[in-house]
Amino acid sequence: MDPLTKTTIDTLDNPGKQKVLVLGGGFGGIKAALELAGRSKFEVTLISDQTNFRYYPMLYRTATGGSRAASQIPLREIFGDKEIKLVHDSAKTLDRAKKQVKGASDKSYTYDVLIVALGSVTNYFGIKGLREHAFGIKSNEEAQELRDHLHKQLLDENKPDLNYVVIGGGATGVELAGVLPGYLKYIMKRHNLPKRPCNVDIVEAEKRLMPRMGEKYSARIAKRLQKLGVKLYLGQKVLAETASELKLSGRILESETVVWTAGVITNPFIAANGFTLSEHGKATVDEYLRAGEDIFVIGDNADSQYSGMAQTALYDGIYVAGYLKKRAAGKEPKAYEPKRPIYVTPVGPQWAAVSWGKREFFGFIGWLMRRLADLRAYHDYQPWWKASKHWMAFTEGEESCPICSKK
Ligand SMILES: Cc1cc2nc3c(=O)[nH]c(=O)nc-3n(C[C@H](O)[C@H](O)[C@H](O)COP(=O)(O)OP(=O)(O)OC[C@H]3O[C@@H](n4cnc5c(N)ncnc54)[C@H](O)[C@@H]3O)c2cc1C
Repeated sequence: MDPLTKTTIDTLDNPGKQKVLVLGGGFGGIKAALELAGRSKFEVTLISDQTNFRYYPMLYRTATGGSRAASQIPLREIFGDKEIKLVHDSAKTLDRAKKQVKGASDKSYTYDVLIVALGSVTNYFGIKGLREHAFGIKSNEEAQELRDHLHKQLLDENKPDLNYVVIGGGATGVELAGVLPGYLKYIMKRHNLPKRPCNVDIVEAEKRLMPRMGEKYSARIAKRLQKLGVKLYLGQKVLAETASELKLSGRILESETVVWTAGVITNPFIAANGFTLSEHGKATVDEYLRAGEDIFVIGDNADSQYSGMAQTALYDGIYVAGYLKKRAAGKEPKAYEPKRPIYVTPVGPQWAAVSWGKREFFGFIGWLMRRLADLRAYHDYQPWWKASKHWMAFTEGEESCPICSKK
């Protein structure tokens, strides 16, 4: 029996309750499930293909020597003794007529209400060689693979290539590029390696970094990265990658370490199961985040105004749970009102850019705001004492390399 089903509470079969089936144990799905758990009118089942909740905003830290405890939380720890039936399976097909979801295990799960919160997957846009050669930071496994590769690359005296390329000038790429120079220096110092210059480059297809943000925001981040020694390649499209080169529209960069952060696409479950797709490839939803009778779509899967952010997924989870509670109480639910997230982008040690409504902050104050926002975000899923444990893990190191892990 897998570790999740062991913790399953199997005694929830109560015919008086509405069966709420949540697909996806991420920012949106967990929040919706937590909000509904223990309510007399609902019986909540959550299906996840992972045993952990991935706290993506911290993966750049895990990839550069930070503790895994900051970027993953076991689902069992979050749900504890909550009245949620937790199932380890991968949702595959949806039968609307039977109100049933089938998993990869071949088991079927029936529902009265379905909440789809399956997040995004990496998209390589069919660019030749990327899937085979590029690293990623979308899971702890990928983050560790990158970290181990960085060690191997630096420790191998026969490998003169010390060029590192991050593709994607969005938040994930910028965050990673900001910490890479410092981490490479750290590895060299811990291993007493002779000082060798490392090149860290960031490649962005648009003319500026963080193209969805205002110009000042982009410019301050570009300046900060340059100060940290990162070279910017803007307006450069990636055409192909081999084991030792990255071909851009305007040049070739030699590198054996390319990290792809530039593309995600909504989970293929959406396209495979008859949802109406928007021009962004996400599920079209109505003013209540519904995409069919008793089917709600939230977070990255929904084509809502601020979809693609953790804060939006969390907000959507709360909204749908609120909708269901109101409806169960015989009240009229309010329409969904999109909420602009607070954008916070850390770039290197103790510096972050923040866009909060019309205000922008840069530097140490931004970094403090980011730390507080993280604490708040962990607490959205756990009581303070547990949340602070994961929050504190930001300052802790974790290495598979025995030399770097020595105190
Ligand atoms: C590296 C990185 C850094 C980020 N940093 C930030 C940030 O700083 N701030 C911010 O606001 N946003 C950030 N984001 C975006 C944010 O993480 C997403 O918008 C958010 O996770 C979306 O929440 P969700 O609930 O829609 O999906 P997720 O949180 O991705 O949850 C989906 C869950 O569904 C599971 N799943 C997938 N397929 C199946 C299946 N078939 N069956 C069962 N389970 C399945 C997945 O394993 C996952 O657990 C970042 C994203 C990445 C990749």
